[in-house]
Amino acid sequence: MTNHSFRDSTEVMFQSTVDKLELDPGLAEKIRIANSTYTVRFGVKLRGQIHTFTGYRSVHSEHREPVKGGIRYALSVNQDEVEALATLMTFKCALTDVPFGGAKGGLCIDPTQWTEEELERITRRFAYELIKRDLIHPSQNVPAPDMGTGEREMAWIADQYARMHTTDINAAACVTGKPVGQHGIKGRTEATGRGVQYALREFFRHGEDVAGAGLSGSLEGKTVIVQGLGNVGYHAAKFLTEEDGAKVIAVIERDGTVVDRSGINIEALHKHIAETGGVANFPNSIVLSAKAPARFLEEECDILIPAAVEGVLNEGNAEKIKAKVIIEAANGPTTAAADRILRKRGVTIIPDLYANAGGVIVSYFEWVKNLSHMRFGRMQRRLEETQNAMLLDEIDRVLSSNGLNGISEGFRDQYAKGACELDLVRSGLDDTMREAYQGMRAFLRSDDRFPDLRSAGYALSIQKIAAAYAAKGL
Ligand code: GLU
Repeated sequence: MTNHSFRDSTEVMFQSTVDKLELDPGLAEKIRIANSTYTVRFGVKLRGQIHTFTGYRSVHSEHREPVKGGIRYALSVNQDEVEALATLMTFKCALTDVPFGGAKGGLCIDPTQWTEEELERITRRFAYELIKRDLIHPSQNVPAPDMGTGEREMAWIADQYARMHTTDINAAACVTGKPVGQHGIKGRTEATGRGVQYALREFFRHGEDVAGAGLSGSLEGKTVIVQGLGNVGYHAAKFLTEEDGAKVIAVIERDGTVVDRSGINIEALHKHIAETGGVANFPNSIVLSAKAPARFLEEECDILIPAAVEGVLNEGNAEKIKAKVIIEAANGPTTAAADRILRKRGVTIIPDLYANAGGVIVSYFEWVKNLSHMRFGRMQRRLEETQNAMLLDEIDRVLSSNGLNGISEGFRDQYAKGACELDLVRSGLDDTMREAYQGMRAFLRSDDRFPDLRSAGYALSIQKIAAAYAAKGL
């Protein structure tokens, strides 16, 4: 059994694409390697003693700058993982035409073991170490949330940067995923989950792709299993059930699996976890113990959404997976070996570099907003409203002069509205997700060396990165 680490898996997927693309080996090597990885060990005096923490910031590719990628807080963080995640960021940004290179950061810490005040001191100290080396910088290196971090940590980082760069007018653009009231953007928190929803909607627009996965129709009534109800899994599951009529029949969490074949109320489950700290005793459903959590990955369903950590789909279970479509909301949930097995078995995989790009796409919008110092829609919203109202009034006038009923109030209310920031963020995210899917689809159809979405996605990204290097004379 080839037990690929996350990093090995990323490399295997990269290498097989490069081999088929017949890329110049020197250039391929340049694209493969992580440019730099900075390791820092710093001490913070907490609870009367000095605690030493280890953190990383890895830059995979600077073919575009700034480089972009989240900062993860977890005990499992290590250099290999951070580098593999940085690599994925490079391909994710290239595939979706987000003009950034790839980076990632991590801190070896169990955030649940520290109070908010302690976490703030640790985060500010980590940020200080990165900022003084320009590893956090609006034009060079822009972090964002990842597992174990959120807008609270991003606000601390932004403030730390502003304190150390008091005259930088673009200081707010040094990090994304900030709270909306502190230079963040509406729709960023849910962006990755929203992106998963938009990716699935786009997939279901292509009848042939749907049939190829052994499915038919739309998302309505499709059975879904979600692994991990963190920020990404929660939002994806919430939107798919509340807005698309999909049915989440199982949620696999750290401490157990919730099963309800008539469909789980995601909002209620999320609230239950927040209030009680786990899935135990969630009313009106079967809750299986944590001892067999992975078993439900193998359960019959239309769509499986791994939204937690890497490597959960591996050689140990790939033969047993019964889902028709796997959409990788997490980074690297499928090992290279499992990917091969699943493809052979005809399972459609919507790959991570595309499926979970929603976060960085909306980060890009936030960064642009920070640099422009103005909220999206501020200049045109009321103008649009006035113009729409004029059009509706004129239609009403013509209708009534012909003795016909006027426009309904419901339609008028909906149509007359000018686009606000959230509308524009959603529209930009939807457009980007659709375009990227169509790009991968057109590529795999035009070149039979790349018969699946992942290899087409990698190939497209690598071609774009190669072109960027060529333009630089490399
Ligand atoms: N951590 C997220 C990811 O893995 C978001 C990165 C970003 O917004 O820069 O894609």
